Amino acid sequence: MAQHQFQTEVSQLLHLIIHSLYSNREIFLRELISNASDALDKLKYLNVADDAYKSISFDPRIDLAFNKDAKTLTVKDNGIGMNEADLAESLGTIARSGTKAFLEKLGADAKKDSNLIGQFGVGFYSAFMVADRIEVISRKAGEEATWKWSSEGKDSYDIEKLEGESGRREQGTEVLLHLTEEGTEYANRWSIEDIIKRYSNHVAFPIYLTYDEKEYDNKGKEKSSKTKTDRINSGQAIWRRPKTELKEEDYNEFYKQLGHDTEAPLHYVHTKAEGTLEYSTLFYIPAKAPFDMYNVDYKPGVKLYVKRVFITDDDKELMPTYLRFVRGIIDSEDLPLNVSREILQQNKILLNIKNASVKKLLGEFKTMADNASASDKDREKWETFIKEFNRPLKEGLYQDYGSRDALQELVRFKSTAVEGWTSFADYVTRMKADQKNIYYITGGDEKTLRASPLLEAYKAKDIEVLIMDDEIDDIVIPALHSYRKELPGTDGKMETKSWDLKAVNRAGADEELGEKKDKQAEKEAKPVIEKIKKALGERVKDVKLSRRLHDSPSCIVADENDPSIQMAQMLKAMGQTDMPDIKPILEVNGEHPIVTALKDTEDESRIADVAGVLLDQALLVEGIKLKDPADFVQRLNRLLSG
Ligand code: ADP
Ligand code: MG
Repeated sequence: MAQHQFQTEVSQLLHLIIHSLYSNREIFLRELISNASDALDKLKYLNVADDAYKSISFDPRIDLAFNKDAKTLTVKDNGIGMNEADLAESLGTIARSGTKAFLEKLGADAKKDSNLIGQFGVGFYSAFMVADRIEVISRKAGEEATWKWSSEGKDSYDIEKLEGESGRREQGTEVLLHLTEEGTEYANRWSIEDIIKRYSNHVAFPIYLTYDEKEYDNKGKEKSSKTKTDRINSGQAIWRRPKTELKEEDYNEFYKQLGHDTEAPLHYVHTKAEGTLEYSTLFYIPAKAPFDMYNVDYKPGVKLYVKRVFITDDDKELMPTYLRFVRGIIDSEDLPLNVSREILQQNKILLNIKNASVKKLLGEFKTMADNASASDKDREKWETFIKEFNRPLKEGLYQDYGSRDALQELVRFKSTAVEGWTSFADYVTRMKADQKNIYYITGGDEKTLRASPLLEAYKAKDIEVLIMDDEIDDIVIPALHSYRKELPGTDGKMETKSWDLKAVNRAGADEELGEKKDKQAEKEAKPVIEKIKKALGERVKDVKLSRRLHDSPSCIVADENDPSIQMAQMLKAMGQTDMPDIKPILEVNGEHPIVTALKDTEDESRIADVAGVLLDQALLVEGIKLKDPADFVQRLNRLLSG
């Protein structure tokens, strides 16, 4: 027997599991069933696709058994199995960044809920919530030796080879749990059946439970005992069953296994295509965004099956990245069973299924949006969807040009005109008759944006501005350029209308603010503008008389083709070091007393102080960090002391 140390992260995880996880303990069974089902999927695939495994005759099944007196519970499958190296690798280390993320999440989660553990790729270890010793006995398909892994879930585990009689067994894995005092509640027929019904009823392989049926005499003494084995799940590939036979409950139960979740999904859509291509899809939208949605190495949520045989759950190409939160199954009748990954990438059939699925999903989202006003429940559903997934959908606006028309109807924004979320379509209906553009402001948090002096003239003219406080808006919206929509024209025929998207913090977005700058005012302001420009020198690209200011003395805007200053700062922070210094254009309010007071002074140091403060306060109010705050404070103090 050889003793091995757990990887440090695994020890930390186990410590936490054993000492802190109390709620939703029963999910350990879902996780073990999920592993058994994965193992069966893998062998089933090799069995049909790989000559080396074709001779294995195999009737896939999962078997549960318990012993109340010995306080044990076993979960057994006849799937792919593990050899010595697999055991050490799979049950001693963690391949993905799962543990760390899970530890962090739990650290922040007061409830210390174990529910999501499976999503982090560390589901097996959840069995230590209910067991103080676990043995895993396994024989890998096609190999001779049987191995036993055992551990008390502390710092180490043992692996030994089982010789003789105990080593002779069918391929597959048996997980034997020595239950803790609290864990003994699971050595019970009714609680096992209940948990399987709730989480694993629709696992596509039969699950059997072996139990003793005892009869008692009228004094309560055991009369006879019979060992029985019952099938306890309904276990068909749910996605292949007709929709009419399935209830919402069935779909939700299947999701809980598939998504390693205890919460019901927000939405599901089940499709069966018959025609040139034959396939079934079952997609779920979780109620909460997956924890790794913003990780580069996120785990894809869609599994590919061919004629009910599992092919892969690790192909990011099955869904566009912006739909990576979708969970579900694609099952094709037309693909060959021995598809290789490389072939999958360029496979026409799969591409067609993928495109149809994207279209279907975006259509579902649109229906969800359209239904939002139907009832409180529908509204909440849509709001949850937007709260969780607005951002990935915005990514789609520049990733998937072909779906642009659909996506631009789904994304939502905050606005100066209404509370809550609004859409481009709604904005357009509120537009002034002669308004040509859709206005938006980016570059900070909502509060900063709403307080920006750049909005003053739009407010005064009652022109709506979209408040785009999501970092991604700054990248996506300028790339979108315009919003377009098919609308009935004056002759009743449909025509495509288009509105330009204009950032109010850009030079050039003020054209619609009316009154062309009065030549006279321009002439009068000129000397003051020149003074300020001279004083600021290299700090600004230009100084101009503003038409968008009412109350504030100054504001900054970016040149039409420059990135905004906030954007430039963000790119720098992300490590883009070769960014040229973006200089702002300073706009001043010709009627503001601070500005008019400059007319009559030739005191250069005073002009420099006023100009410096006009620029710095305009930067500050946009949430931009000053390069030289001390200089700003000194100038301000000099001005205040007269
Ligand atoms: P995940 O299932 O997300 O990979 P787990 O912690 O549940 O994470 O399992 C870790 C790994 O252990 C699995 O990926 C698999 O390789 C292996 N494993 C666990 N249970 C079994 C089993 N019953 N049969 C074969 N391999 C298994
Ligand atoms: Mg697992």
